[in-house]
Amino acid sequence: MPTRMPGRNLLFVPGPTNVPDRVQRAMMVAMEDHRSSKFPELSTSVLTDLRKVFKTDTGQVFIFPSSGTGAWEAALTNTLSPRDKILASRFGQFSHLWIDMAQRLGYDVEVLEADWGEGVPLERYEERLRADTRKKIKGVLACHNETATGVTSDIAGVRRALNAAGHPALLFVDTVSSLASIDFRMDDWGVDLAVSGSQKGLMLPAGLGILGVSRKALEAMPSATSRRCYFDLADMIKANATGYFPYTPSLPMLYGLRESLNIIFEDGLENIFFRHHYLAQGVRAAVTQGWNLQLCAKAPKWYSDTVSAIMVPEGINAGHVIDVAFRRYNLALGAGLAKVAGKLFRIGHLGDLNELMLMGAIAGAEMAMLDVGIKVAPGSGVGAASSYWRTHDPVPKRKVSQEEQFYGAHSTGSIQG
Ligand code: PLP
Repeated sequence: MPTRMPGRNLLFVPGPTNVPDRVQRAMMVAMEDHRSSKFPELSTSVLTDLRKVFKTDTGQVFIFPSSGTGAWEAALTNTLSPRDKILASRFGQFSHLWIDMAQRLGYDVEVLEADWGEGVPLERYEERLRADTRKKIKGVLACHNETATGVTSDIAGVRRALNAAGHPALLFVDTVSSLASIDFRMDDWGVDLAVSGSQKGLMLPAGLGILGVSRKALEAMPSATSRRCYFDLADMIKANATGYFPYTPSLPMLYGLRESLNIIFEDGLENIFFRHHYLAQGVRAAVTQGWNLQLCAKAPKWYSDTVSAIMVPEGINAGHVIDVAFRRYNLALGAGLAKVAGKLFRIGHLGDLNELMLMGAIAGAEMAMLDVGIKVAPGSGVGAASSYWRTHDPVPKRKVSQEEQFYGAHSTGSIQG
């Protein structure tokens, strides 16, 4: 293998995603004093604007110098006490890892197992919540977009299940691979803790754990006795009130975040969601119509607009497809994780992308599949994607108002807890 691969590496893992040139340039700054009187302009502006991305008027957003995993921990330890009961479902590696963390932190997690390829089992959630007449369950976990399997769950449905059961548990949602890519509405859906990270829809490097917290969750903090220090929201609240952080923030990341938010608001959130759906539909056309392969997601209602997990035929190791794509064609595809390792590869289609960039991923995946002996028709994936994209609009037909950008085009009103 040559030591240098000419041209660009095509990055199609579902995070980290491509960082736009504008964001990269914004991050190339000399270091500054994070205690200067000017610093709060930057910190306050990003903290305020992130609330628009979470679609919350009433909640507060926090930024930790961590990855999404840190924000998972912050959400749990700031609002729960040891041995508190949590209801969760496992249907992929990331829903699994959050459950694993909750168990290791000493909570009593009731796990509803679902097939990998399915999403949050709403009926079973409602059943369990109704049966919990003594309101022992303190937290309900839901992974909005399971990145390992390419499955999006119905978070409004989880809120409806809680409301139908008249249950006061806090609703914890993982939005790491959905925020700023797939519609997410913290206030409308009564989400109490919304966990995210910088390296996906926000188009930044990894390095920020981002957490949206509702008023109800903030009120739960004083009585939550889990041990916490680095991730203590009380310290953050105190420091953020004057525009500072309790420890040294990553300045380039904050400048990068400022620029990525500028791009997001220039594009418009609803246009971004529309574009992600449109791009995802082209990829799905390549997979199902072009290659005649199956997605891991078991039904269209679960199809993710940010990542497609593609099952390879029996007897083929998907790891080989990924390795050939990387070594021979300079294309990074996502691997199958844990239970689905070797069975699938993933194409991430989120962030700063367009059709022809995705054509590179589809063409490269196709060549790598042919190289390892998967009998797809050469050009079939590209052909199916191009048929889809050439006959569909990348932007909504009608102009989306500023209000809709914030509150959503099909807002059915609030279903808060
Ligand atoms: N949750 C989901 C859905 C993810 O996709 C990831 C990472 O890919 C995480 C959580 C963990 O985030 P991080 O790797 O930023 O700690």
